[in-house]
Amino acid sequence: MPNQKSICVTGVTGFIASHIIMSLLEKGYRVKGTVRHLSRLEKVPWLAELAAVNEQLDLFESDLLAKDSFNNAVDGCHAVIHTASPYVINVQDPEKDLLQPAVIGTENVLEACRRSDSVRRVVLTSSVAAVTDEPDSNIVLTENDWNVSSSLKRNPYHYSKTMAERSAWEFMKSRHPAFDLVVINPFMVTGPSLTPSANTTNLMIRDIMTGVYPGILDLNWGFVDVRDVAAAHVLAMEKPEAAGRYLCAGDSLHMRELVDILREGGYERSFNLPRLDLTGKAGSMLVKLLSYTRPRDTGMYLRTHLGNTIRYDNAKIIRDLGVHFRPSKESILESVEDMIAWGHLKKR
Ligand code: NAP
Repeated sequence: MPNQKSICVTGVTGFIASHIIMSLLEKGYRVKGTVRHLSRLEKVPWLAELAAVNEQLDLFESDLLAKDSFNNAVDGCHAVIHTASPYVINVQDPEKDLLQPAVIGTENVLEACRRSDSVRRVVLTSSVAAVTDEPDSNIVLTENDWNVSSSLKRNPYHYSKTMAERSAWEFMKSRHPAFDLVVINPFMVTGPSLTPSANTTNLMIRDIMTGVYPGILDLNWGFVDVRDVAAAHVLAMEKPEAAGRYLCAGDSLHMRELVDILREGGYERSFNLPRLDLTGKAGSMLVKLLSYTRPRDTGMYLRTHLGNTIRYDNAKIIRDLGVHFRPSKESILESVEDMIAWGHLKKR
């Protein structure tokens, strides 16, 4: 049964947004998707083909940095899911490449929503990066926590996500728009990709399998499957009672556990899985020294995360939105098979 409500999704060439639009279309919504360059759509054949055959999907050209660029896409929509934002760790110019598109883009999208007389809810894709950039094993993170450490020089991707989310909440306070705001804060998103380009998180798994890491480091992360992240966005958009921020992550894994999953998955023979144990104080000291030989922002990430166990409470998203998290093991193994199928990961 078609649902005649129109939903705008920004950045539909992206890993997460592509799953969101599939989920919306399956539920019968009309979707207005934004892409940065309509003229480069041939590089995203699945999207070009989908838009050609599915009358429920229309594409609009919108650039995060261009004022009024989202007005047409947002016009007439009941809700907007704003996911577009650069997700890269190493950039040349953090202000231009990360901060401006994240913050100005969020403000441009919210302003377009404010001007429309149709939008009732905006769902913003933030990140755990807006919650912390230096986990502390003694603290269980919740939606009340904010990253107060990042800057243009220290974990600039984290800074861009923090400032974009802060500017969204500030917009709500100062402009009193007719819509409400719900924010999803995912951790490391894994799982199969609909798009040919490999996502930064999946590339981290590829790097672990191809000898980029000198050994097993004292790092840990929370994981969430991209289909569960998409479901969380759609539920946040649909459920009237959804409110505030939602930490979006299933189980967490130490890098050792991640490597064990890959070994049990049978990837040891065809890939270069790390073996050397670089956990513990001495290992982390050595890796901190080595981190200065890595690209600037990867090095910074390592120095602020090594040896710190991240702990978080995901009860709110389960209770309010009813999100079910797939086991991270399943999602990680699917990511690997998917990267092999797309040609991002080659067996030796
Ligand atoms: P992605 O695949 O790299 O997608 C990013 C999207 O943003 C692309 O559609 C990209 O368009 C668009 N974009 C970037 N700069 C733009 C600009 N100046 N104008 C218009 N569009 C622009 O990343 P993703 O993983 O799906 O991330 C989506 C959101 O989730 C981001 O806000 C990211 O911070 C957040 N997030 C991701 C993860 C994760 O692990 N993947 C975790 C937490 C939060 P082009 O295709 O034209 O570049």
